[in-house]
Amino acid sequence: MRRVSIFGATGSVGANGVDLLRHGGEAEAYHVVALTGGRNIARLAEMARVLRPEVAVTAHPELLDDLRSALEGSGVQAAAGEAALQEAAARPADWVLSAIVGAAGLAPGLTALAQGGVLALANKESLVCAGDLLRRTAAAAGTTILPVDSEHSALFQALGGDNLDSVKDVTITASGGAFRDWPLERLAAATVAEASTHPNWAMGQRITIDSASMFNKAMEVIEAKEFFGLKPDQIKVLVHPESIIHAMVTHHDGGTLAHLGAPDMRHAIGYALHWPQRQALPVPALDLAALGSLTFRAPDENRWPALRLAREVMTAGGAAGAVFNAAKEQALDDFIGGRIRFTDMAPRVEATLAALSREDGFGADPDSLESVLFWDGLARRKAAA
Ligand code: NDP
Repeated sequence: MRRVSIFGATGSVGANGVDLLRHGGEAEAYHVVALTGGRNIARLAEMARVLRPEVAVTAHPELLDDLRSALEGSGVQAAAGEAALQEAAARPADWVLSAIVGAAGLAPGLTALAQGGVLALANKESLVCAGDLLRRTAAAAGTTILPVDSEHSALFQALGGDNLDSVKDVTITASGGAFRDWPLERLAAATVAEASTHPNWAMGQRITIDSASMFNKAMEVIEAKEFFGLKPDQIKVLVHPESIIHAMVTHHDGGTLAHLGAPDMRHAIGYALHWPQRQALPVPALDLAALGSLTFRAPDENRWPALRLAREVMTAGGAAGAVFNAAKEQALDDFIGGRIRFTDMAPRVEATLAALSREDGFGADPDSLESVLFWDGLARRKAAA
């Protein structure tokens, strides 16, 4: 029986993963090792009562009693805090979905890889902060990282194991988020509520706002470089408001292969769950005749300066990814907290990168979790409003 765990089960991606385990038609074939969440104890307990993991973990120690009460009589062990997350990640599992949001997903992901499980990675922050460390940890354990981000799953599928030598470039698409069609002069006054709506995807609040600012796409460009070993100038972004084509691979011979699908995360999660096989998934089929047309436009870097920053991060290498992500997370906290405007986020991240690039050791890839956390902490303090 396959042993599986979901980290960040109570979130948008995690809940889709739980849904696949529940309704995938072969629920009996899974032994659920761990389900983890944060503050949503009721949801975590409800999922745990259905999937009966060995352990359910909340990241917050002060919520342990609530989780224990919610699980009473279920036979599921309750645990809480960072050490409990690490203990759960170290339990033998064949497949682990990494769906915690933010840099907090890195430590459990590294531990899950080290114990030898396949890591289905939605937590793009891990690759942005510590791509080299993640790849080395996977190689040492003889295991695999699979993409769950829809664009990277699409690239993985479109590449189909092709040798990168034949690849000219790849394109990941972006819906353009909530402010795609807003006049530029309105952006400074954008509210958190306005930034928290997405035209096509139902996602967690943070990634939804990151879609409006294009920080999400900037992270994905870096993620593509780290995941596939592409050069920065081989990764292109195309605004595609319908979110039907997720990514394309263009070969030197002029052929372009595109991956299309309804905007439903259960495809990418299910693909990673069943890889290297394919199985039927509860995902709506595409009806291109009903859609009629697909549209595209070039991204405007005045509207979305995060895309330029992503290129600068890739060129800088070393600790730039960890600094970029942490500064972005801090700026996002400050925007959500009402301390800065929507348009202040990118300049704040840029200023943090510029300041920390003068620190000793910035040019070296972080070679341990501690080193990533060092740069992460420095960047958050520097970026704080
Ligand atoms: P959500 O905010 O919906 O969920 C995040 C999950 O992480 C929840 O389970 C949350 O718990 C938990 N969590 C939050 N903070 C912590 C913490 N400090 N320690 C441990 N657990 C924590 O996020 P999404 O599901 O939208 O995104 C998850 C990841 O997947 C992100 O990296 C995102 O970029 C990526 N992704 C998301 C996509 C989407 O469609 N949503 C698509 C592709 C990638 P709780 O809610 O209980 O507090």
